[in-house]
Amino acid sequence: MKRDLVSIGDLSDAEIVSLLDHAGECEQRGGSKTLEGAILATLFLEPSTRTRLSFEAAMHRLGGAVITSADPQASSSAKGETLADTVRMVDAYADAIVLRHSAAGAARAAARVARAPVLNAGDGGHEHPSQTLVDLFTLKREVGRLNDLRILLYGDLRYGRTAHSLVRALCRFGGTVLAVSEPGLELPEYVLAGLGPGASAEPARPEALRTLFRGEPPSATLIRPRSRDSGPPRRWEPGPGEIDAVYVTRLQRERIGAERAAPVLPPVDPRFLAIPALERAIVMHPLPRTSEIDPRIDADRRAAYFRQAAAGVPVRMAILSWALGRLELAGPRRPDATAQEPASSAAGSCSERTCISVRESSTAPAERVRGADGSARCAWCETPWPAGQAPA
Ligand code: ASP
Repeated sequence: MKRDLVSIGDLSDAEIVSLLDHAGECEQRGGSKTLEGAILATLFLEPSTRTRLSFEAAMHRLGGAVITSADPQASSSAKGETLADTVRMVDAYADAIVLRHSAAGAARAAARVARAPVLNAGDGGHEHPSQTLVDLFTLKREVGRLNDLRILLYGDLRYGRTAHSLVRALCRFGGTVLAVSEPGLELPEYVLAGLGPGASAEPARPEALRTLFRGEPPSATLIRPRSRDSGPPRRWEPGPGEIDAVYVTRLQRERIGAERAAPVLPPVDPRFLAIPALERAIVMHPLPRTSEIDPRIDADRRAAYFRQAAAGVPVRMAILSWALGRLELAGPRRPDATAQEPASSAAGSCSERTCISVRESSTAPAERVRGADGSARCAWCETPWPAGQAPA
């Protein structure tokens, strides 16, 4: 089976643990010749600094070569070439493709076209699985475990694609997530619906954050693992030192448009970090930050975001070694939940305007699948299939 990383769901829990262990070894060992003779194409049709450079640095550290198209305006997509045609060509030049694209589902569409493994470096506001592996690596190293983490997720959770892949992964490892979002920018329905029967989501009123908001946070959801006896999950009120990490995302202005100029949520600053529940919490951010993290906390030992960014190289060394068949991961493979069900080509079209099937139906024809919750969804971006067009 081709080793695409389109969604964090493409890796089983055991594979994630194994990949992170290997990333730790890469970090210790430094360079090697593991990928000598292999060529990686980095195809970035949206801006990037860390993801592209850390994938490229990782490839160089493993002795491989890199070809890159980093400026959308300088690529043939600016001339109107379809993603499918671009990917077909790049597939002929390289052994693996890292793709960033502004349309949700673009990486899945590219993976269907390419013979080479496709690694999703961000598909619109949908997913960013390699960032999640970097985040999990950071959590494991800084907090000391992967299981049963307690995370405050904070910011634009609707368009912040890193948050989507991360919530999915955290829940699989028994995590509890208090999601405090910019008003109107809550976690999308498909993320909550895709958490499966092992997790529940409900509105929350965290007392612990009251001082910060002078009242209740504008919009909070508590995502908890269901108890083993399948009873309702208990409420959770974070006590002093009980939150392991605050994961912050910026307003994704490029997806929201001009109507939301500035965040409504207070920034993560010295006052924020004085909340007793955050006594031990590390502060994470996929970067770039804008105004949501005050630089005055950079010197605080809990500020982990630059260490997190540095982890991008060893983690992507492990991802590349795996994708190119030089690393076997422990545990069974886990096909993505949305890919498990046989897809059916569908009458009608997806209702999400940023979906690759809407933007480029020749690359990604309308297709529906059954999601983890049993409902009909777009095979590319997971949006619920419009009522009236659902399969019988
Ligand atoms: N660099 C991350 C991403 O590409 C986070 C961000 O841009 O806010 O999704």
